[in-house]
Amino acid sequence: MTAVYRRGFDAHTHVGEPVFDDDRMSALQRAHHRGVSGLAMATGDPDRLPRLREIAAQLGVVLSVGLHPWWVRADSRVEDVVRMLETNAPVAVGEVGLDRLHPHWEQQGRIFSAQLDWAHRHHRPVVVHAVRSVDEVLAEFGRRPGLRMMIHGFTGSVQQARRATDLGIHLSIGPAAMRAAGRTADVIRAIPVALLLLETDAPHHPLVAGERGEPADLIAVAEAVAQLRDVDPVALLAKTGDTARRFFGVEDDR
Ligand SMILES: [Zn+2]
Repeated sequence: MTAVYRRGFDAHTHVGEPVFDDDRMSALQRAHHRGVSGLAMATGDPDRLPRLREIAAQLGVVLSVGLHPWWVRADSRVEDVVRMLETNAPVAVGEVGLDRLHPHWEQQGRIFSAQLDWAHRHHRPVVVHAVRSVDEVLAEFGRRPGLRMMIHGFTGSVQQARRATDLGIHLSIGPAAMRAAGRTADVIRAIPVALLLLETDAPHHPLVAGERGEPADLIAVAEAVAQLRDVDPVALLAKTGDTARRFFGVEDDR
C-alpha cells in the first residue's frame, strides 16, 4: 500500500518566478494531488512584486514581501523598503536577511533591521535567509521579543539550531535533507518537531540536477527528513504542515 500524504505545506517557494509561467496551476495541482495542499511564496526580485501579488491572489497562496539581501544595493534606502511593506501590507515579511557571501553587508544589516521592526510592530511572521549569519540573525531576533521568525533552508550548526529553537525560532529544511549526512543530518535531528518546517524553495534545488524544483517535491523532502529522524513521513508531513499554517496565520487551504 502506498502512503497517502495530506496537509503538507511548502513553507518556502518561489512559484511566482517566470519559469512557472506556462504551467503554474498544474504544478500546484500536482503538489495538491500528492498531499501538499498549501504553500507560501516569497518575493525575490522586488520589480516583480505587482505580478507576484496577482499570482498569489489567483492561486490563493500566502505571499511574503520583503527585500532579499541579494537585492540590497549600496544606495538602497530604508524608507523605500518600509514604504514597500506599508503599501503591500503582506501577511508575512520575507524573504529578508543577511548573506555573508553577498556585497553591502552593512547596508544589508540596516535594511534587515528595518524590515524586522516593521514585522514586529505589525505582528507579522518573518521568513529569513541567513547565510553565514545565523549568530547575527539570532541577535536581531533577541532584540524584538514576541517576533515570529523562521529561518528557511537552515544551514547553521547543531549549536546554532539549538540556540535558535530555544528562542522559539522555526527552522525550515529543504531538499538538502536528501543528501544530508554527518553534520547536516545532526542538525535535522536536533530541531524540535514543534518548530520544524519543510520547504522546496522551488524552482531552486531540483531533485534531479538540471530540472526545475516543484512544490510536489515536498513529499521527497518529508520522506528524507522522516528517515533521518526515524519517524513516520505521513505524520511528519501533516504535523509540519499544521505548524506552517499556524506560523503564517492561515486557517486552511482553499
Ligand atoms: Zn528562497
